[in-house]
Amino acid sequence: MAAVIIDGKALAARCKGQVAQEAKRFRTRPGLAVILVGNDPASRVYVTSKRKDCEECGFYSEEFALPAETGQKALLELVDVLNARPEIDGILCQLPLPKGYDYDEQEVLLRIDPSKDVDAFHPANVGKIMIGNYDFLPCTPAGVMEMLEEYGIDPAGKRCVVVGRSNIVGKPQAMLLLHKHGTVTICHSRTPDLASITRQADILVAAVGKVGLITAEMVKPGAVVIDVAMNRNEAGKLCGDVDFAPVAEKASYITPVPGGVGPMTRAMLMKNTLTAAKLHGKE
Ligand code: NAP
Repeated sequence: MAAVIIDGKALAARCKGQVAQEAKRFRTRPGLAVILVGNDPASRVYVTSKRKDCEECGFYSEEFALPAETGQKALLELVDVLNARPEIDGILCQLPLPKGYDYDEQEVLLRIDPSKDVDAFHPANVGKIMIGNYDFLPCTPAGVMEMLEEYGIDPAGKRCVVVGRSNIVGKPQAMLLLHKHGTVTICHSRTPDLASITRQADILVAAVGKVGLITAEMVKPGAVVIDVAMNRNEAGKLCGDVDFAPVAEKASYITPVPGGVGPMTRAMLMKNTLTAAKLHGKE
């Protein structure tokens, strides 16, 4: 069996197109502020792509590139200013914050007005997601759910296995699959005999960050395999956790890296910014 390759790039383009269409009829354009502290090249790339996405969607955007030594106090002050500015609907602080300085990421996330928390990392939004009554969903798991829906894959009654339990991907991903009535297992670094669990999965989501972690032997024939990870292999090429070619022979659907979950994450950020603008009465 050769799997259908889920085209995240094409779906993301359609999602952004819909967001742009909707934004056109808003009284005031939605606005996104992106804060980048320090000089991490990968984060720089993400910030640039967010600016491009905002342009495509007709959003107002502002970038704050701060030196690594800015400090917690000044960073919190910037968040306060952005919380108060009406042209800004979404605030995103690029994580991780630079190591070796006295930053407290949790305090920064807590400071963002929950109605502007387009990453959905604020505890108020995390709690809303838990009870299934939310304004925003975290972008990566939301993108995965959109892909499943687009390809007619219904988690209801399916065995879903999420490998990884981070607050930004694994845990919310498991919750969203549960909301869609999947029977969900979460695995992590202390899970013994990972393969015995992944082999039971009808829908397998890999969100670890380890090249080649998920091999064909770990996948049930006909499974849907979603690869969230963004790793670099020995040749420096972008790749996921899944051993793509052999797993694609066995799976029914699979996401590529690049061109799978990554573009959907970006599209969901635009969708969340639009939602925030609605919350702020700009429709
Ligand atoms: P993270 O915070 O480092 O979490 C990784 C998780 O994997 C942890 O829960 C860890 O378990 C678990 N793990 C580590 N080794 C394992 C093993 N051998 N077997 C099973 N589980 C193992 O990473 P993250 O932020 O969730 O990101 C995960 C991956 O997704 C990364 O590659 C990241 O770059 C990528 N990512 C992609 C997007 C996108 O848009 N495509 C967005 C966000 C992240 P413990 O909790 O026990 O340590």
